[in-house]
Amino acid sequence: MHQSKLNIESIRAEFPVLHQQVNGKPLIYFDNAATTQKPKSVIHAIRHYYEFDNANIHRGIHTLAERATAAFEDTRVSVQQFINSREKEEIIFTKGTTESVNLVASSFAKAFIKAGDEIIISGMEHHSNIVPWQIVCEERGAVLKVIPVLDHGELDMEAYQKLLSAKTKMVACVYVSNALGTINPIKKIIEAAHSVGAKILVDGAQAVAHLDIDVQELDCDFFAFSAHKLYGPTGVGILYGKRELLDAMPPYQSGGEMIKEVRFEGTTYNEIPYKFEAGTPNIADVIGFKSAIDFINNIGKIHIRKYENELLEHCTNGLKNKVTLYGTALQKVAVCSFVIKGMHHFDAGMMLDAKGIAVRTGHHCTQPLMERFGIEGTVRASFAIYNTKEEIDVFLEAVEKLVK
Ligand code: PMP
Repeated sequence: MHQSKLNIESIRAEFPVLHQQVNGKPLIYFDNAATTQKPKSVIHAIRHYYEFDNANIHRGIHTLAERATAAFEDTRVSVQQFINSREKEEIIFTKGTTESVNLVASSFAKAFIKAGDEIIISGMEHHSNIVPWQIVCEERGAVLKVIPVLDHGELDMEAYQKLLSAKTKMVACVYVSNALGTINPIKKIIEAAHSVGAKILVDGAQAVAHLDIDVQELDCDFFAFSAHKLYGPTGVGILYGKRELLDAMPPYQSGGEMIKEVRFEGTTYNEIPYKFEAGTPNIADVIGFKSAIDFINNIGKIHIRKYENELLEHCTNGLKNKVTLYGTALQKVAVCSFVIKGMHHFDAGMMLDAKGIAVRTGHHCTQPLMERFGIEGTVRASFAIYNTKEEIDVFLEAVEKLVK
């Protein structure tokens, strides 16, 4: 196997949290699909903001307000370049993927969904890309359709084609499954949605840390993700949307910042992105997020992907004959989801934790997907750039003991 040239030890040195003992053992953090750890540069940027620049943004004319505003807006430009949107105004800050999806569901539906319209989601969606659309359907009398999942954890693309029709107004689909690791053929999914005149929202929560994202090339209408899954702070999300759609959609929340002029007789709204950014945002963490993007760019997604693929292959080979793996698609990110015969996933998770190994257990907020496979949940090990094959070996040995 080709060995990656990255200096993983020096990358690990950037992550203070990794260097500790848990239950008397060196921490092995394999819960990266839930949230990644943060490098020093992100922690320092947040600390620097509170120590030197803390002020509310956009409205102040004093120096601190100007510094805070400039740093906040710098992150917007970084995100624009990171996902290659046409304009920085198409980047809206939210508190996470969940809020980004809720924003689109609520606001897009008010503008464009009526009784009898159809919305398509997939059978491997996270709850945060299911429930908002169920609510839209209840409120507006629309109909929810679901793309089935095949045995290896891939979407049934033929069935998808058959679900599409002139009634389809929105397709909301995950790029990379958090529970299985499957990379969906998102470009084809987007093209098919557009061929019937539907709009498409891509849940990119698990994709952005591993894959190059170019929203213009993808031609998606909306793209949602969370900073905390790509080495950034919690409480920051991104919604990318095409200008013409964002301009046509009503505000999601209302109050300060999203207005142009307020009179008791009526209010006019601000331009995008501010129309969708009511109230004081999470200034410090948005500023910290820029350092996370810089961290990823400095390594390069191509190198990250290559190295994580080596980890995935190593772990998959080690698990293959010992456990039942769920999610064996050809195109995958570094996620191993599995069940140990005769052992509840919670027990497995607790026993691994006793050895300092952090994995996620349960339904991973994808209950319908678990039901599809006839299971309650899995043990999920998900890898990031700072994980090592040596850690995987310790993990495989621990799993082997559980199997026995
Ligand atoms: N979609 C996917 C695919 C996810 O993995 C997650 C997080 N587990 C979410 C949506 C929700 O993200 P957040 O909790 O950051 O809003």
